[in-house]
Amino acid sequence: MSSTQPAHVVIIGAGPSGSLAAALLNKQGINATIIEKSIFPRFSIGESLLPACMESLKKADMFDAVNAAGFQFKNGAAFHASGKYTEFDFTDKYTAGEGTTFQVQRGHFDKLLADCAEQQGVTIRYEHEVKNIDVDRDKPLLTILDKNKNSYEIEADFILDASGFGRVLPRLLGLEEPSTLPPRRAIFTHIEDNITALHYDRNKILVSIHPDDSKVWYWLIPFSNGTCSFGVVGEPEFFANYPDDHLEALKQLVSEEHNLAALLAQASYPNPCSSIMGYSANVTKLFDRNYALLGNAGEFLDPVFSSGVTIAMKSAELATNLLIKQFNNETVNWQTEYSDTLMTGVNAFRCYVEGWYTGEFQDVVLHENPNPKIKQMICSILAGYAWDETNPFVAEPARRLKVVAELCKS
Ligand SMILES: Cc1cc2nc3c(=O)[nH]c(=O)nc-3n(C[C@H](O)[C@H](O)[C@H](O)COP(=O)(O)OP(=O)(O)OC[C@H]3O[C@@H](n4cnc5c(N)ncnc54)[C@H](O)[C@@H]3O)c2cc1C
Repeated sequence: MSSTQPAHVVIIGAGPSGSLAAALLNKQGINATIIEKSIFPRFSIGESLLPACMESLKKADMFDAVNAAGFQFKNGAAFHASGKYTEFDFTDKYTAGEGTTFQVQRGHFDKLLADCAEQQGVTIRYEHEVKNIDVDRDKPLLTILDKNKNSYEIEADFILDASGFGRVLPRLLGLEEPSTLPPRRAIFTHIEDNITALHYDRNKILVSIHPDDSKVWYWLIPFSNGTCSFGVVGEPEFFANYPDDHLEALKQLVSEEHNLAALLAQASYPNPCSSIMGYSANVTKLFDRNYALLGNAGEFLDPVFSSGVTIAMKSAELATNLLIKQFNNETVNWQTEYSDTLMTGVNAFRCYVEGWYTGEFQDVVLHENPNPKIKQMICSILAGYAWDETNPFVAEPARRLKVVAELCKS
């Protein structure tokens, strides 16, 4: 391999995709600077990880630090709807690779990854905000505001936009496109769960479906300190029948789902409740000659399968692999090797997200007597291995889902 040419990559945002991308470039001797508008730790939604992202963390030499951090162990997902309860154990999956992961307070997790990147040699400028970017020049020019409101410019060889819901380049360049998914809203908080039920498995995310509206679902994501992230997702109109006060609405929704009501009978709600709406996003393109979009800055689907951080890390892996080759004067094809490859997994997830809201995929995951082989293949998807095209449920998601949903009905 030829030696790495001097190159300077600017990464916008120190979330999981930004820190991972910076670390992966730094490992190959490519200088990467992260511009991050917040000071860490800062809150972020997206607390249940999937095992596939542990593979990405290994590549960035962050796996050991995450393992040692004391986060809540996670080995699967549980689903509940009107008395039916099913579990997926991620270690019993079709694709090889890590079968367990963690549920994490993102403030702590994102700071840990960013600190790892810094320790490896990456520069992070906290409280610096990217305000403008000119990509029409040979080398793109970023205008940045530092914490004292002083403006300065950086000329980069390449920009990786890892700005998450900030979506810096899509906004500045008009790349935003409506999502194929309808707008949904989530209301959520952190609770002290005080769960004593012996059957409750803290090692799994619990996804529960509202008894009267199967398009409405709840997440219960336990942490290692006796608290849980708890939230409800539904179409905006659904919430019109609930109190304006988010916390009151959440409590009413708990009372309507009997399993959750019993589990959370002793819970306390000491924290404010937040709401986020219309988070699904799409873009017209994921790259151009001097930039690429990572993670949520590109595409965001839906929280139901906790796929956001896994997709963010996968995008960082794919884009940095190409960038390293490009800086080594190797021929690269961003369309096939980045965009198309990334979208293989994103589109597999999209198919199951759509199937979740039509009810087809709910029937599949709630089936109480599944074929073990099929369950392993579905388990792989739920564990985040959505890029393994040897899995028929990745290679042909729509057809496979239709067939298996029919089988579940009979
Ligand atoms: C309701 C809901 C629930 C979710 N639950 C899950 C889940 O359980 N599991 C999961 O994996 N995912 C979940 N997600 C998705 C998850 O939140 C995101 O996919 C993930 O955080 C994306 O990571 P990222 O690195 O792309 O961006 P982020 O983690 O959002 O990081 C972006 C960073 O960029 C910085 N930034 C933004 N603008 C600028 C600027 N102009 N200049 C400098 N810095 C900037 C921000 O401060 C931020 O630190 C959920 C999403 C929603 C909406």
